[in-house]
Amino acid sequence: MEPYRIKVIEPIPLTTEQQRAEALKRVSYNLFNLRAEEVTIDLLSDSGTGAISADQLAAGMNGDESYAGSRSFYRFRDTVSELTGYAYLLPVHQGRAAERILFSTLLTPGSTVLSNTHFDTTRANVELAGCQARDLPCPEAKDLDTPHPFKGNIDLQALKLALETAGESPVAAVVMTITNNGGGGQPVSMDNLRQTADLCRHRGVPMILDAARFAENAWLVTRHEPGYQDRTPRQVAEEAFRLADGCVMSAKKDGIVHIGGFIGLNDPELAQKCERLLIATEGFPTYGGLAGRDLDMMAQGLREVAEPTYLAERADIAAHLAQRVRAAGVDIVEPAGLHALYLNAGRLLPHLPPHQYPGHALACELYRRGGIRSAELGSLYLGEEDEHGNPIKSAPYELVRLALPRRVYTRSHYDHVARTLADIAKDPHTVHGYRIVGQSPILRHFSIKLAPVAPD
Ligand SMILES: *Cc1c(COP(=O)(O)O)cnc(C)c1O
Repeated sequence: MEPYRIKVIEPIPLTTEQQRAEALKRVSYNLFNLRAEEVTIDLLSDSGTGAISADQLAAGMNGDESYAGSRSFYRFRDTVSELTGYAYLLPVHQGRAAERILFSTLLTPGSTVLSNTHFDTTRANVELAGCQARDLPCPEAKDLDTPHPFKGNIDLQALKLALETAGESPVAAVVMTITNNGGGGQPVSMDNLRQTADLCRHRGVPMILDAARFAENAWLVTRHEPGYQDRTPRQVAEEAFRLADGCVMSAKKDGIVHIGGFIGLNDPELAQKCERLLIATEGFPTYGGLAGRDLDMMAQGLREVAEPTYLAERADIAAHLAQRVRAAGVDIVEPAGLHALYLNAGRLLPHLPPHQYPGHALACELYRRGGIRSAELGSLYLGEEDEHGNPIKSAPYELVRLALPRRVYTRSHYDHVARTLADIAKDPHTVHGYRIVGQSPILRHFSIKLAPVAPD
């Protein structure tokens, strides 16, 4: 059961199917353009959507809003340095600000960054720094159905080869994303992290953690990695941070705050250069784009997130939903992680070709039937067409992500999600496809316009 009870509530909007059908039409079938008040269960993202605790709220009330040298900063710094061990800590307003500041400082244009999988903003910031972002996921990651426990691992052989034969584009950094968000939220083993760190040290290449879900990764290590059963998630997390030379962190995930993040580094020269850029673009180094109250709430969230009772329940609720979804006959990316469930829409809707966007069709159907908002991760997100709409490139899989906000929804909310899916899975052939009627050249999924394809 949840290791907390509810003290403050927020009513959720209850709408009719007709209202939802009208809303879908109004937003040209783009769920990003719905108003939140039209959504009953919002599983669009687990970022900044968590519920804060009474202790976090109390910490926020104690925030020190001095421009420089606030007590909040020192409390934040002490908490994070205890957790991570990094000598230099720079607060930023969110993860991508950390990426922009670190990568534009650390990377020389023309070099390469290797990763188990770059998250999309991470890739964008590597490319904006004039570098190439290469993903080296382990071979097990390609099979969606196998329950291999550490599908987030980097391919060590490919990494070794890439480090040895970099040629014209030297490797400037290795980024390990824990858990591997772009790769289905799968965890990275400590063994894989350690071997990566050894290879990097040998070559003099810094290893940076993208630590947005460090606590969820640590939890899965304690459950599945030999030798770690008797460790606490906190101990595993401390060890993981210390294997790396630094980190970028979006605290909107495992900081359980609505806004916040940080950069952690050991190299004094690099830290100083980042600090200069931080002052110019985020704020003075003792607040870095955040209010004092944000720093205090983040520090408290980072302590709460590694508590075993919290993590056990988060894993359990995800497993509960996963089990009900499987029972409804819908396949998910296995094994089920903690922060999201990835539905295999391509398999559920085989009558829809990639360029009628089965993932998007399922996401729209979840909204129309159940008021549930989710995110397509398929050919709408990754695909390409020519100017006449003819397919050029489709995604390897047609997925829908149900992100699970932290401490927000209860089992009965997730039962509603499972029931809605079961209802769709009864007659999947009635779900129709979509075609694109308007789009922008970059990050098109945010602003795209679609129309239903009438069944033949
Ligand atoms: C969310 C996320 C980011 C970016 O963080 P923001 O706070 O959204 O800017 C970077 N990496 C990973 C793995 C993430 O999940």
